[in-house]
Amino acid sequence: MPVVFFGHGNPMNALERNAYTETWARMGRELPRPRAILAVSAHWYLPATLVTAMDRPRTIHDFGGFPRPLYEVQYPAPGDPELAARVQSLLAPVDAGLDTRWGLDHGTWSVLVHVYPDADIPVVQLSIDETQPPRFHYDLAKRLAPLRDEEVLVIGSGNLVHNLHTYAWGRHHPEPFDWAVRFETLARELLLRGHHDPLIDYEELGRDAQLAAPTPDHYLPLLYVAALQREGDAVTFPVEGVDGGSVSMLSVRIG
Ligand code: ZN
Repeated sequence: MPVVFFGHGNPMNALERNAYTETWARMGRELPRPRAILAVSAHWYLPATLVTAMDRPRTIHDFGGFPRPLYEVQYPAPGDPELAARVQSLLAPVDAGLDTRWGLDHGTWSVLVHVYPDADIPVVQLSIDETQPPRFHYDLAKRLAPLRDEEVLVIGSGNLVHNLHTYAWGRHHPEPFDWAVRFETLARELLLRGHHDPLIDYEELGRDAQLAAPTPDHYLPLLYVAALQREGDAVTFPVEGVDGGSVSMLSVRIG
């Protein structure tokens, strides 16, 4: 199976039909059909490594101040407790807990409503341990490599550039900030070359990186995807664009 990073951006993308969401839908038609999905979302960021293990994950509306229809979106994909147990054993000796309280947050469902609108593929989420450095996440993700041969689609959902302080809410088509473009261009080159060390040590890349990823949550899902890159994998960017000047909508497909 390929691995995919999605830039999810504004939660309203769940309801909208635009160039981003139409490409997400096309990606769903073009990807080999997975048996199950393992999703690493920016929005499950807490001091633990957890795996959702319920039969019926609920749809979590983890945001505030959006129009009512967004709170009515349901994504009733089943869970996959067997896959959760498989992930737990792959991640050992890191102690991943089986979770029965979370579900699917909007990092996952705002994209999957377009990629797999029938919600008939089981979805398991893996949390991001906020106490751990980037290298830990990259190394942890490497242990998930066998899943690519088990018909499991591993996805990361975040945004390569995610700065809400500079985001132009309500302004149409502002020009992307120069630092956003530079950081995204650098990250793309590194991914194409399979040169991951600078991506892992992104905090050392200077001011552009500090502005592009002022907090790690939306950036780290990219490392989970990059870690599963194999020699010879094609790397493509099916979705491109910077929303509001400072949120990169870039998608990365590896393999
Ligand atoms: Zn987000």
